Amino acid sequence: MTTIAFIGLGNMGNPMAANLVKAGHAVHGFDLMPENLTVARDHGVVIMANAPAAVKDADVVITMLPGGKHVLSVYEDIAPRARKGALFIDSSTIDVESARKAHAVAAKHGLPSIDAPVSGGTGGAAAGTLTFMAGGSDDAFAAAEPILKPMAGRIVHCGGDGAGQAAKICNNMILGISMIGVAEAFVLAEKLGLSHQALFDVASTSSGQCWSLTTYCPVPGPVPTSPANRDYKPGFAAALMLKDLKLAQEAALGSGAVTPLGAEAAQLYALFNAQGHAGADFSGIINFLRGSNP
Ligand code: NAD
Repeated sequence: MTTIAFIGLGNMGNPMAANLVKAGHAVHGFDLMPENLTVARDHGVVIMANAPAAVKDADVVITMLPGGKHVLSVYEDIAPRARKGALFIDSSTIDVESARKAHAVAAKHGLPSIDAPVSGGTGGAAAGTLTFMAGGSDDAFAAAEPILKPMAGRIVHCGGDGAGQAAKICNNMILGISMIGVAEAFVLAEKLGLSHQALFDVASTSSGQCWSLTTYCPVPGPVPTSPANRDYKPGFAAALMLKDLKLAQEAALGSGAVTPLGAEAAQLYALFNAQGHAGADFSGIINFLRGSNP
């Protein structure tokens, strides 16, 4: 049994912490929102008064927070108070630069650390099937792997500090662009009098095949489990897609990468969000492209 501090018990953090409890670990949790603490307590998490109290006796510290500024401020607060050698794992999706700064804060206090963002959403968090993309030293990764296992379907060591975040934003830039591409194809098909099913049957077994089409089809019918079949209830909210596309654009600007389609996807999702659809599934962008509301 390992004592794990879990800071950030929201939509993702709570089910992840629950799986660590189920795996037999002692989980000491903290969140700013009392209602999230109540849910965590019901899952068997020991609720602590604040973040420093949560990390005090922990061998491992996991953070699952909204953004880079939250992670850095929590790290500054807890790193000086952590046990000697405690392993820090940040699973939030944040910008690569902040991730590297977080590693540096941990290192300053002699603490091994990895950035380990996830994909798989709240469903994957509940089922313990998340994909973890990890960045950090070989030793830190080796120590983190058994801790991540009860929450994971797949764990990939992507490279050094920040490489997990780099993999996450590159993957989600592909996803945002491909969803818009698939949605545009359905909109064009509609104008040409081609049925959704006919386009799906051809493209899903042709060179247009991709996850946005075959798993997350943005029109109802061809893939009964996709959010289009439940009025675009997320799933993966458009607000989070916009967040990740913005992170990708920041990284592209900072590194000099040329990503015109990533930039266009970020613009389109910004407009979709601004029209009041931040809480809709990101595949609802098809309604924006049609000029109708989800
Ligand atoms: P959420 O808003 O539900 O949870 C974040 C939690 O952090 C909140 O409960 C908030 O109260 C807490 N928090 C903020 N500042 C804090 C502080 N200083 N101390 C303690 N707690 C604090 O968000 P979420 O959906 O759980 O997402 C968490 C992270 O995971 C984000 O970075 C998100 O981009 C990423 N992510 C989310 C999904 C998803 O489908 N929801 C999928 C993959 C990755």
